[in-house]
Amino acid sequence: MNNYHFKCACEQTAFNVLGQPQFRMLCHCTICQKFNAAPRADILVYKMSQVTMPADGVVSFSTFKRPPNVQRGKCVQCGQAAIEVFNMPLMPKLVLVPVGMVDRSAEIPEPKAHMFYDKRLADAQDDIPKHQGFIPSQWAFFKYLWFPKRS
Ligand SMILES: [Zn+2]
Ligand SMILES: [Zn+2]
Repeated sequence: MNNYHFKCACEQTAFNVLGQPQFRMLCHCTICQKFNAAPRADILVYKMSQVTMPADGVVSFSTFKRPPNVQRGKCVQCGQAAIEVFNMPLMPKLVLVPVGMVDRSAEIPEPKAHMFYDKRLADAQDDIPKHQGFIPSQWAFFKYLWFPKRS
């Protein structure tokens, strides 16, 4: 399995990831918009066991209102959205990484879906499935995680 090295623009926040993400998604929710300072987030989803977390102190974590149990971390030095830790009951601990952290040489999959598409700031010109609203988006997230082959 390949080991990938991810880093932010200023290179202070860096971490290693082993193997491929569980899936990739485009999230249009307002929290992702704000956190990423972008119309939508382009995110890779990993299991925590695949990720060697960045050093203490280089990332500043904050918790947003919804969804719960997500710690969203930005590089202390350059402010780039760097890493998110997703901790939910009955789920493996997950790490979400904005695609902007990924080395361009890394092979990453195409996005599986649009999430919270009802919150979009612009229509997407693609054939990727679009999930609207909280429950359908959450459900799709679980489905892609638990049944990656079927979805
Ligand atoms: Zn989101
Ligand atoms: Zn940085």
